[in-house]
This record gives sequence, C-alpha cells and structure tokens, in this order.
Amino acid sequence: MKYLTFAAILLITSTSILHGANSDSIPSSGTIRRIFPTEYALPASNPIVWKDSGIVVHLHARAFSQGNIVYLEIVPDDKSEIYTTSINCRYEQNDVLLTRFTWGYRGFFALPPDAPPGEKTLTIEYQGLEQPSRHVLTFNVVKTDFPVYRRSMNVGKFSDINHARAPEIQTFIEYCSNRKKEAFSHQGEDLLSSVLAHPRDRHYVTSPFWSTRIYERYKIKNGKKIAQPSESKYHRGIDFRGSRGDPVYALADGRIVLAEKLYYEGNFTVVDHGNRIFSHYMHQDTILVSEGQIVKGGDKIGTVGSTGVSTGPHLHVSLVVNGIQVDPLSILALPVRN
Ligand SMILES: [Zn+2]
Repeated sequence: MKYLTFAAILLITSTSILHGANSDSIPSSGTIRRIFPTEYALPASNPIVWKDSGIVVHLHARAFSQGNIVYLEIVPDDKSEIYTTSINCRYEQNDVLLTRFTWGYRGFFALPPDAPPGEKTLTIEYQGLEQPSRHVLTFNVVKTDFPVYRRSMNVGKFSDINHARAPEIQTFIEYCSNRKKEAFSHQGEDLLSSVLAHPRDRHYVTSPFWSTRIYERYKIKNGKKIAQPSESKYHRGIDFRGSRGDPVYALADGRIVLAEKLYYEGNFTVVDHGNRIFSHYMHQDTILVSEGQIVKGGDKIGTVGSTGVSTGPHLHVSLVVNGIQVDPLSILALPVRN
C-alpha cells in the first residue's frame, strides 16, 4: 500500500444505518476507506435519521452548518413503491440529483456558506403504487464562524490593477474563462465511492475555507506604485502548505475534465465526481493526469507549486457542489456507499 509511509488508513464499518425500517431494506454494511495524514483529526459523521411512512432518510455531514457538504440516503420499506416511478428531491429550492442503488437512493447537496442559518427543508416526492407520496423533512443549519484576516495580502504583479489589462493577457483570461465554463458544464455520471482522501500528505492549513481576505491593489504611474483601495474577497477553498514537488491527491473518485495551465489558477486540475460535484486543485508545479482520465480517491494527480496568482508554493483545493462552494475537507466525514 503506497500511502503507508505518510497516511493513516481508516477502515470502518458503515454506521449509516442506525435505525432501519424493515430488516430487508437494510443494505449490508459496506466498508469505508479514508486516506489522510496522521496529524489530521478525521471528522466524525453526524447523522440525522428520519423515518416517515414508507421511507427512512439518512443525512450525514461533518456538521449541519454553513459551508458543509451533506450526504443523503433514501431507503424505502418497499422498493417497488419507490423504484416504479421518478423520484424528486429538493433541498430548499435546489434539485438534489439522486443515484439509484439496490438498497435505495443516494445524493449530495451543499449547505451554502453564504445562505442564512436556520430551519431548512428537504422535500422528497414520488408517485407510489397507489398514490403520490410527499415527504418533508426539516432540520436546522447552524452558523459557521468563518475567519476574517485583517492583514492585507500582496500578490505581486497581480495586485497591479493594470497588469491584466494588456490585450494579450485579456485574450488569455477570456480563453481560460471559456475552458472553465466548458469543464464545469460537464454532467458526468455519479462516480463517488467509499474511498475518500485528504488532498495532501501533511495537514497544514495556511488559509481556511471562506475566510475573508483583503488584497492590496496598486497602479504604476511614472514608474511609481500608487496605492488603490484594497479589495476584500472570500477564500473559496482551502490553502495547504507544501513545498514545490510535494504530492497532490484526488479527494475522491472521478474523471479529469480539465488539466491545463490557466491565468489565475496556474496548473489547474478539475475532477468531475458526477452529481454536479467538482474538485479543483490550483497552483500546481506539475499536472500528472490528462483530460478524460478516470482517477480514484487518493491517486496522486499532481505536485504542489506556485503557478498562477500565487505568492509561494501551496495547494489551493476547492469543492463545488451544484455550483456552491463548500469546505473540501467536509467530504471526508461522509460514509458514502455504493
Ligand atoms: Zn487559496
């Protein structure tokens, strides 16, 4: 096992079935595999199990708070009820894509970092054998205290407000934006498995998810730097410390839909996990995969670098669920099964 030198590998029996409805609707418990550095405290899954007539719904998240990904299982009492017809699931206003398995359905959705906390609604509807069935589950999403960094950051020439205005750079930025649009429009099949991995061999966060950061801006006039009003932005991923050449691992199984050097992201890899879930790996020194390739969680897909808008070697990782950014490490808490 190639990760043994740095990683703890945790094999746990699925605990997602806490209360089954009928014994025949309880799938055999699977094995969940997690690959992560020894200094990383693996978050526990925090389930909500909810029973209603005909179905049991399991929701798992690292925490039911802003900025986390949620894993959903719908286990029917009687499969013929739920398999004969189309099933719809919505979290608040957004559709949740479901994948059918022998034991029921599974899906994923995001608790947006910028949506207000409070009571939220999950709605499941299907046409049963005799009558339509509608289930409404409510649960509470709590506030996450995202950090705010007051010290402003200088990203060198990228802080020059005129730098990106050069025509050749504008053309390149436009090209990059089209490439990203194309990659993010992929609607690949659900490839997620129970194998999930930390993206680095060391757990050292230099900038947490959704922290507010202030960027210095300046312009050059007559060879002199003139300060401009600074800009405040949310950090839409996690920055991990690393040295140039250190390994970058795929968070989960998926297909490479972009592997290319772009303006802001530098050497950029995007993995489509299916279900409109994508992970992003930025500023790499080298990319070790190519577009179209299938990867497994924990596969080495690149190396840490400082390409694109970056001030030193680090890995920026993002996780985007149906267009919503969540904390990428929150996926490690999910007892995903096939
Ligand atoms: Zn970053």
